[in-house]
Amino acid sequence: MEEDYVFKIVVIGDSAVGKTQLLGRFTRDEFFFDSKSTIGIEFQTRTVDIGRKRVKAQIWDTAGQERYRAVTSAYYRGALGAMLVYDITKRHTFEHATRWVDELRAHADKSIVVMLIGNKADLTGRAVHADEAAAFAEEQGLFFSEASALSGENVERAFLRLLHEIHANV
Ligand code: GDP
Ligand code: MG
Repeated sequence: MEEDYVFKIVVIGDSAVGKTQLLGRFTRDEFFFDSKSTIGIEFQTRTVDIGRKRVKAQIWDTAGQERYRAVTSAYYRGALGAMLVYDITKRHTFEHATRWVDELRAHADKSIVVMLIGNKADLTGRAVHADEAAAFAEEQGLFFSEASALSGENVERAFLRLLHEIHANV
C-alpha cells in the first residue's frame, strides 16, 4: 500500500552521541557496538500508521559532517522534523545543543518540530540532569526525551511522538 505522507526528519547533534544508532534502532531495530562514522549523505525509512494515515518517515543522517560544522542547508531542506541528540554522559554535547538550535533556526523551516534526545540513558556517569535538559527544551520550544539506542528504551516512543506532532501540523 502506498503511503499517504512522506515526512523528512533530520538527525543532528555532535559526533558520537549515537545519532546513527538511534536511526538504526528505530528503522531496523538494530544496534552496532563498533559503528563506523557515517560516510556520504543517506537516509533510512520506516513506514508507520498514524491515525488512519500511512506515514513514511524518511530519516536523514548527518554523514559525519557534524565534525566540520558543515551540515549544509540542503540537509535541512524540506525537513518537517528534527531529532537533536546529545549524550547524557558528555556535558559538552548538551552545551552544544544551543548551537544546533541556532543552525535549525538559520536553515530549517520555521515550523519544524524538534525533539531533544538525551541518548545513552543506559550508561552510568550522567553529566546532564534530565530536569535541566527538560527546562532547556521547554525554553526553546522543543519536545524532550531521554533514550537509549543500545537498550532501545524510549526510542520508538520518541520517534512516534515526533511523527504524531508533525502529523498534527500538516
Ligand atoms: P553518531 O556519530 O552520533 O552517529 O554516533 P554513533 O551512532 O556512531 O555512536 C557512537 C558510539 O556510541 C558508538 O560506539 C555506539 O556504539 C555508541 N552508542 C550509540 N548509542 C548508544 C547508547 O544508547 N548507549 C551506549 N552505551 N552507547 C551508544
Ligand atoms: Mg553517525
